[in-house]
Formats: sequence, structure tokens, C-alpha cells
Amino acid sequence: MAVEIDWKSLGFGYIKTPWRFVANYDGKSWDKGALTQEDMITISECAGVLQYAQTAFEGLKAYTTEDGRIVTFRPDLNAERMDQSAARLEMPTLPEGMFLDAVDQVVSANKDYVPPYGSGATLYLRPYMFGSSPVIGVKPAEKYEFRLFATPVGPYFKGGVKPISIRVSDFDRAAPHGTGHIKAGLNYAMSLHAIVDAHNQGFDENMYLDAGSRTYVEETGGANFLFITKGGKVVTPKSDSILPSITRRSLCYVAEKYLGLTVEHRPVKFEEVKDFAECGLCGTAAVISPVGKIVDHGKEICLPSGMEHMGEITKKLYDTLTGIQMGRIPAPEGWLREIK
Ligand SMILES: *Cc1c(COP(=O)(O)O)cnc(C)c1O
Repeated sequence: MAVEIDWKSLGFGYIKTPWRFVANYDGKSWDKGALTQEDMITISECAGVLQYAQTAFEGLKAYTTEDGRIVTFRPDLNAERMDQSAARLEMPTLPEGMFLDAVDQVVSANKDYVPPYGSGATLYLRPYMFGSSPVIGVKPAEKYEFRLFATPVGPYFKGGVKPISIRVSDFDRAAPHGTGHIKAGLNYAMSLHAIVDAHNQGFDENMYLDAGSRTYVEETGGANFLFITKGGKVVTPKSDSILPSITRRSLCYVAEKYLGLTVEHRPVKFEEVKDFAECGLCGTAAVISPVGKIVDHGKEICLPSGMEHMGEITKKLYDTLTGIQMGRIPAPEGWLREIK
């Protein structure tokens, strides 16, 4: 049964697909979990997730390669990161293999919703875990639910890639020694005001500086920075309060091993930014979204790559990684997981 979807005009919004995976933790162990068609969740009004935001999530994509395989990109790293997020929020880790198995099962069951090669659309996967039992005194919940659903999303760059403009935020994203390094809903809840405000001021995104000294570049609300120096080096900010982006880590590998570029992963002072040649935001959704302009309280930094195109090296990185993802360029061992 084929589904009728206009893949090219699809946006980034929730569209219900038939099957999702659900597993439950009863306080001692996880059940084995199963696919279900039930998209509604019934939990206590006092559930840990509702009262104290005890929840973490992941995001990855399934798509069709040039030779017609359905694959996911490095889902083992999402599984690992989910475990790290769960541990930091006092939630149980998933049994070995359950995460990847859930990915495979959900994609396989919703195969009709995996967009064809060349459409630019993908099947976005959202794994998440939350405290489901009642908690009123502040402590971790006893019971947890793990879910994974799929929703088709359209091409990130409709009508061509356009560099974005961002501003240095007066709000902080993550405290030193806080939760910036985990993929937790709480990091997003507190970023909503900052992003709405940025949009109202005409900016696409916020650049967050380190909350401790407001001296170093951290990341945006949902993507890591990647800079290119005028000498052609790749520089990515290092900090314990940045979420370790799988896309960023993959791009750095590609830069070194495929393009022969020098990569520096180190603290980056905001002061340095005016000297960079190119800037991009890395994340699963866009792979790289080029930044053309960074505004610090009225002071504009215009990247030499401009507001019309992706910078030259950024584009090479983008083309190489998307080429690997789509099966046009040989992938490093283990990067593509085929769904049967
Ligand atoms: C998910 C996320 C990213 C991007 O990570 P990817 O693994 O590349 O998708 C970057 N920053 C934050 C805060 C995130 O939540």
C-alpha cells in the first residue's frame, strides 16, 4: 500500500504514522517492548515527566539511498547518547540493543512513509523516555516509558540553501556543570522564550555563549557551530555544556579523512569569530545550515561567505557528508544501518 504524500512540499511538523514502539520499566526491569498503533498515552496527572520534566529524547532520520536501501545514519551513537542523558536524569538505561531494535522495527513497520531517494524528505525518528509514575516530593520516578515514533519531514532547504542570521543571546542555554551536554526536554523548555524573542527581532537563531564568563562560543538552541578559518582549517567549539552533535562529529571525521583538512576541537572565544571565513550550524535536520551574519548587540559580523551561498569549504563538507549518507560516496564502516 503506497501512501500519497507530496514529499517535496512537506514541512517539519508532526504527521501521525501507523506504528510506534513502546517499552515500560516497572521499577526493576524493562519489559521487552512492542510495536503499537496506539498514539495516545495515559499517565498519572502527577507523573514525573509532567511535574519535574524528567524526560530525554533523541532525533535521527531514516531515508532511501541512491541504490534503494532504507538506512539510518549512525543510530548506535543516538543509543549511546540516550543512555548518557538517561543516566544524568536518574532514569534507567535501556537494555543493550533495545534502542536499535526499536529503530529497525518502527522504520520497517512504517516503510510506506520512508520518502524516496532524491525527494530531500526523510522519515524523522523520535525516541524518548520519561518518568511515568507519580512523584510529588522531588525525586526520580519509579516507573518509566520508552517510546519511538516516526514522522515524515520535508527537505530542510526548500528552494535552495540560504544563509541565516543569528544574534548573540542575552539568555543563557546551559550552566557550567549543568545539563547542556544531554538531550533533555528541559534544555528546550527554557530556550523557547529566547527563540521566540530572536524571531521577533528578525533573527533565525540564538548564539549562546558560555554562561560562566560570556566569553566563549557554545552552540545554538539545537545545533553545534562549525567554523572555517581563512586558512581553511575547521574549528569547532569544545565545552562540557555543549550537546555532542553526531552530525558535527561526523563532519569533523569527513573533514580530516575525506577532505584532508585540519580540524581543531577547542574552546573558541567569541572575539575570534570576526576572523573566521565561514560559519555553519550542524545537526541532524539540516546537516549544515550556513550562517551569513552574527549580530552582537547591534554590532554585525558579516562572514566573508556572505548571505547568498554556503561557504566553499562548508559546501564541500555538506556535499561529502550527504553523499555518504545517501550512498553516493563510500561510508566508513558502520555508519549506515540498513533496515530490512
Ligand atoms: C540534537 C542537538 C544537536 C544536534 O545533534 P545531532 O546529533 O547532530 O542531531 C545540537 N545541539 C543540541 C542542543 C541538540 O539538542
